[in-house]
Amino acid sequence: MSQIKIRIFMTQDWYQLSANEALNILKTSQEGLSEETAKKRLIENGRNEIGEKKRASFLWVFLRQFMNPLVLILILALAVKVYFHYFIDGIVLGSTIFLMAIIGFFQEVKAERAIDELKKLSSHKSKVKRESHLYVIDSALLVPGDIVYLEMGDKVPSDARIIEACNLKVDESMITGESCVSEKTADPIQKKVTLADQKNMVFAGTVVTLGRAVAVIVETGLKTEMGKIAKTLTDIKVEKTPLQKNIQSIGLRTVALIFLALIVFAFISYDRGFSLKDIFFLGVSAAVSAIPESLPAAFTITLATGMYRMAKKNAIIRKLIAVETLGSATVICSDKTGTLTLNQMTVVELASCERNIEFKDKRSYFETDSVFYNMLLASSMCNDASITINHSKQEVLGDPTEVAILRAAAELGIDKSFLEKTQERIKEIPFTSESRFMATMHLQDHHRNVFVKGAPEKVFSLCKYIQTEKGIVELNQDIQKDLNHRMLQMMDRSLRLIAVASCLTEDKEDHFDEGFLKNELVFLGILGLEDPPREEVKESIEKCHLAGIKVIMITGDNPKTAESVARHIGIQSQGVLTGTDLSSLSDHQLFEKLKTVAIFARIEPMQKLRIVHALKAHGQIIAMTGDGINDAPALEEANIGVAMGLKGTDVAKQVSDMVIADDHFDSIVSAIEEGRAVFSRLRNITGFLVTTCFGELLGLVLCVLFIGLAPMTPIQILWINLVTGSWIAIPMGLEPKNGLEMLNPPRDPKSKLIFKGMLFRICYLSTLLGLGSFIIFACVHVEDNRSYAQTMVLTSIVIFEWLIALHMRTDELPLRKIGTFKNRWLILAIISVFLMHLCIVYIPFLNPFFQTTPLKLKDWLIALIPGGSIFIIESLRKEFFPKMFSNSNGFKKAGF
Ligand code: ADP
Ligand code: MG
Repeated sequence: MSQIKIRIFMTQDWYQLSANEALNILKTSQEGLSEETAKKRLIENGRNEIGEKKRASFLWVFLRQFMNPLVLILILALAVKVYFHYFIDGIVLGSTIFLMAIIGFFQEVKAERAIDELKKLSSHKSKVKRESHLYVIDSALLVPGDIVYLEMGDKVPSDARIIEACNLKVDESMITGESCVSEKTADPIQKKVTLADQKNMVFAGTVVTLGRAVAVIVETGLKTEMGKIAKTLTDIKVEKTPLQKNIQSIGLRTVALIFLALIVFAFISYDRGFSLKDIFFLGVSAAVSAIPESLPAAFTITLATGMYRMAKKNAIIRKLIAVETLGSATVICSDKTGTLTLNQMTVVELASCERNIEFKDKRSYFETDSVFYNMLLASSMCNDASITINHSKQEVLGDPTEVAILRAAAELGIDKSFLEKTQERIKEIPFTSESRFMATMHLQDHHRNVFVKGAPEKVFSLCKYIQTEKGIVELNQDIQKDLNHRMLQMMDRSLRLIAVASCLTEDKEDHFDEGFLKNELVFLGILGLEDPPREEVKESIEKCHLAGIKVIMITGDNPKTAESVARHIGIQSQGVLTGTDLSSLSDHQLFEKLKTVAIFARIEPMQKLRIVHALKAHGQIIAMTGDGINDAPALEEANIGVAMGLKGTDVAKQVSDMVIADDHFDSIVSAIEEGRAVFSRLRNITGFLVTTCFGELLGLVLCVLFIGLAPMTPIQILWINLVTGSWIAIPMGLEPKNGLEMLNPPRDPKSKLIFKGMLFRICYLSTLLGLGSFIIFACVHVEDNRSYAQTMVLTSIVIFEWLIALHMRTDELPLRKIGTFKNRWLILAIISVFLMHLCIVYIPFLNPFFQTTPLKLKDWLIALIPGGSIFIIESLRKEFFPKMFSNSNGFKKAGF
């Protein structure tokens, strides 16, 4: 509370000062800070970012590696070894623990780097003056005292006091909640006023809709007004992702299981006459063999690689949970404009009271007094976009719809910026997705011109008259009917319609709102804009259908246009549901409708939230796209909030789970595909590691029970689990997609990492491995050469790892179908593990450390038997009973 009080006081401070006073207090000038001061201030104030977590230090990340129960057991074992003067063992154990920590450390750092890189991709830039030079820098690097240059279309990077303003208008709806544009000046204010009235301040996250300004930054990051709002937005409890919870529970269960086994094991060994010391080391061996130590590291790398691959396909993951949720998405709710279409608009047709004309070849109609000419004139005055020539290059800025209108107008010689000199815009009602129209008032000599453009039904509702070729007449039902008929034809061709109206007024009254417009407005006509559907979308939608994912189009555009676009790209729907229909439906009725309807038109952003709720209530997993500020609640509520990278606001991006850099629908589908692949990679890794662990444990127990000796030393077990196991498991996380990802229905989110069939498969494979290693040990064991027998078991298990890793890449497909050598990294890993194994077996210097003995060729052949037979059995199993261990309950029913 006290903090908030201080803040209010401080912000009051800035707007009550003159610009020069503010500059003095901030120890800066109009020429900007020096680089040196800026650097210092950056360290003092932190980056100009919202919702960024402080990064853990390297030392902490390293130490964290030691904080897992297994490492603690190993450290205990190390202490015991040293206590009993087994120094060689101690050294090996110590270096293994260290090596393990180093691997974990690098993996974590690397994963974090990858995530940072991804974040950079979506960073925001600002124009700043430092040491009298203008630079474009990352907005995160701005500090108090920096002089920023703002122009139309810019998002204000942080709270700043205006020094110089020219025609400046800022949309502050994201701060004040009111969707009106406030005019800003540089003049100081004496009184205490609320945020909305601080006319000489601009706030982070707000958008410059007109004019330009120079401002000095007073607050950055979380101290900005936006930061305070965002803090409440991001203050949500950070829940563990289902996958993380799942891994945790698997971990807990294995530990409990091992503990039980250890107790039994200890009793048996004691009964067999083992000394307490030996029992302790055996216990350590058992624990080490049973715990899949490299699982966390392999998971980290797999998830990070998955995110990296998604980023390469323009899907930038912002929240880790998205990686796993993506794979089970059942519905994609997508915007139309810009996502399913190209957002490259062109005016192709115009409709007046009397007739329609095509823009391209009927320019002869466009005499300067024709109604068509006036339509383009009015709509380019009532327009926030700009086309400028910079170094003989055309630069466009603004909404594609508006840019298209300006382009068409320019072809007739209408120059907006020139006209604005004699007809200054004095008032405006900005366009919003809710109101669906925009109006401006311009001062020309002694009268005022009002121009309106917007969705046809909206503009009709505002107009009393209509412009005909013979003059202005009252807008009656017959005219309206005829126009509606022609509009339908335009919409049928997927055109986006914008109606235009205007009037002259002498009125000096200040209220410029809908009520004001209603009295005098004259309907001019309708512009038809073409926005071609994206070519590739059709294929992606087809893919979604095969993958059991429903695609729903949500748009603010009119139902007919939406329907026509949907037809082009292959979205099937029984009719269209409009925003008005939606508000009259109950949640249950809405869900019933959702089963058949896939097109939602004239939807307001807030209604997206209802759609999300209805779907979620019925267990659907939703990916929802959005770009505007008002989309934020729906993005937050959806399982996967997808913000548009190009046209999306920072607010939408902030609450999203994923940002699509190129706004393409396809990128969402690729991300889902990758998400599915990531999940199956995680399963394969788990399967591989758990199988090896269980197999080793079983072998150990059998040998101790029936032979009274451990088949491997603790060091050898460590070697298998930590070195060869993780060396092979990690590249399994790089497995290329097998092309089947999008042929199954979405994964049921309730289906865990390990499912029933998978557990059976693990059991059957590990039992074979356990038996195999037991038999080897039993056969080659001679009383006086334990190290030889142990080397044989070690070798046979390593060979098993090489061979079974190839099979673990799918549970159904035989190797000939997925390609034995397709995962290059895996093959490379197997070869390197082979070389490492040769080293520890044949280099005399290493023998005592690993308690190994060189093997003969015959020995190798024997060691090959268990792994080789299991490989053959599994190959046959896949050929004849491919579905034996499949996850038949792990999928959502296709559709609903
Ligand atoms: P979407 O982005 O889903 O296509 P919008 O909310 O942007 O939907 O637009 C809804 C309707 O508002 C459009 O069909 C069009 O008639 C009208 N419209 C869109 N942009 C503008 C604009 N800049 N000025 C006036 N009207 C607009
Ligand atoms: Mg739009």
